[in-house]
Amino acid sequence: MTTNITTSTTELRDITKMERIGAHSHIRGLGLDDRLEPRQNSQGMVGQGKARKAAGMILKMVQEGRIAGRAMLFAGPPSTGKTAIAMGMAQTLGPDVPFTMVAASEVFSLSMSKTEALTQAFRRSIGVRIKEETELIEGEVVEIQIDRSMTGATKTGKLTIKTTDMETIYDLGNKMIDALSKEKVLAGDVVAIDKTTGKITKLGRSFARSRDYDAMGADTKFVSCPEGEIQKRKEVVHTVSLHEIDVINSRTQGFLALFAGDTGEIKPELRNQINAKVAEWREEGKAEFIPGVLFIDEVHMLDIECFSFLNRALENELSPLVIMASNRGMAKIRGTNFRSPHGLPVDLLDRVLIVSTQPYTEEDVMEIIKIRCQEEDTTLHPDALSTLTRIAVDTSLRYALNIISCAQVVARKQKLDSVDVASIQRVWGYFIDEKRSVQWLKEQQGMLVF
Ligand code: ATP
Repeated sequence: MTTNITTSTTELRDITKMERIGAHSHIRGLGLDDRLEPRQNSQGMVGQGKARKAAGMILKMVQEGRIAGRAMLFAGPPSTGKTAIAMGMAQTLGPDVPFTMVAASEVFSLSMSKTEALTQAFRRSIGVRIKEETELIEGEVVEIQIDRSMTGATKTGKLTIKTTDMETIYDLGNKMIDALSKEKVLAGDVVAIDKTTGKITKLGRSFARSRDYDAMGADTKFVSCPEGEIQKRKEVVHTVSLHEIDVINSRTQGFLALFAGDTGEIKPELRNQINAKVAEWREEGKAEFIPGVLFIDEVHMLDIECFSFLNRALENELSPLVIMASNRGMAKIRGTNFRSPHGLPVDLLDRVLIVSTQPYTEEDVMEIIKIRCQEEDTTLHPDALSTLTRIAVDTSLRYALNIISCAQVVARKQKLDSVDVASIQRVWGYFIDEKRSVQWLKEQQGMLVF
C-alpha cells in the first residue's frame, strides 16, 4: 500500500529555526536593585518581594564564595513562583556558575540507584575552573623581560619564535637575554634570533620604550647579572563540572555519553581519582572550584534514604548550594510512617533556610499574564485580559498561562488581530483545569477503570 502525502508549501516550515518558549523563559533575573530591594516588576518578575529578596541575599553569599553546605527551601502553594525564583537565581549567577535542576521523582530511575542519581546531580553542580596555557605557535612574537635586581628596572625585548620546541625557545630566550644585558639590544628593540645559528638580528625600534626603562635612564649600566623571563604564554580559562570530568574519564562511557545524556553509573574509585587529580591542580594553582546551585523541585517526593544522603552531602566542603521546593504542608516522609512539615525529616529541616512564597494578588496575576503575552507575542484585548485574570484567580496561574497560546491559535483562525473574550472562553471549554477535572472524575465514578 502506498500513501500519498501532499503538503502545501505554505505548510512547510522549518521548525528547527523556530524559537521555543519555555514556561519560565520570561524570567531574566530576580529583579532586585543594587541594595537587593525587589522592584515591583523587573526582569520578568512580579511581586513575591520577600522571597526574591531572600533569594538575592543567598545569591550574594554564593557569589562571594562564602556559602558551602547550605540549603534553602522554598515552601508555598502551587504556582506561587518557587521554580520561577530559582530560575531567576540561575540567570543572575550567569553561565559560568553551574546550576542544575532536577525534579525529585527523576532520582528514582531504573538505570541507576537513587544515591548515584543524587551524586551525579551534586557533581553537575560543582564547577571546576581550569586554567590552561595555550601552545606557542611558530612565528609568534614572545616578549622577554629582564628585571634588574639592583634597581628593579625592567628591560623588554621581543623574540620571534621560529619553533614550538620549548627547549629551543628557552635556549634562544637566554641568548636574547644575554644580548639585552650586554646592551647590544636596547629595550623596546624587536629582534629575531635564528634558530640554528643563534644569530640575533635587530628588526628596528617600532615598539615603544617601557616606562620602567625610561625611568632607569639611558646611561645606566648593568652591574649584576640580570634575570630574564620569557613571558608566560597566554592563559585560557574554561569551566567544566566535576560530573563532566567524571564522564569524560570514564572508560565505559566516554565523552559522547554527555551528549546522549545517559551516563549510567560511575565507579566510586574513578570519582576518588578525579577528586585527587583536581585537588592536585588546585594546589598547583591550575584550577579552582566553583560551588554552584542544585535545585531539587517537589522535594517531598524524595525518600528517607535520599534525605540521609542529602544530610551527609551537605557536610562536604565542596557542596553546592542546595535549593529545594515543595508545595506540601504536613506530609508523610516517604519510606517512613512519620508526618513532618513539607515531608522533610526534622534534622534536615533544621539546617535549611526556609523561604515561603505567598499567593498572588489579582494585580500581580494580571501583570504576570501581560508579561507572558509579550513573551509569547500575543495581544490580548483588555476584556480578555480581565477574563484570563479571573480564570487564573479561580483556577491557577499556571492554567491561565498555559491557555494563552491556545487562545492565540483560536483567534488566528478567526483572523483576529488580538485574542478576544470568546477565544478565551472556547479554549476554557476545550481544556479543563484541575478543579473541573476532579469534578468530572466524581461524576464519572464507576464508569472509568483505574
Ligand atoms: P509548583 O509548586 O506547582 O511547582 P511553583 O511555585 O514552582 O509551582 P512556578 O512554576 O514558578 O510555580 O510558577 C508558575 C508559572 O508562573 C511559571 O510560568 C512562572 O514562570 C510564572 N511565575 C510565577 N511567579 C512569578 C513571578 N513572581 N513573576 C513572574 N512570573 C511568575
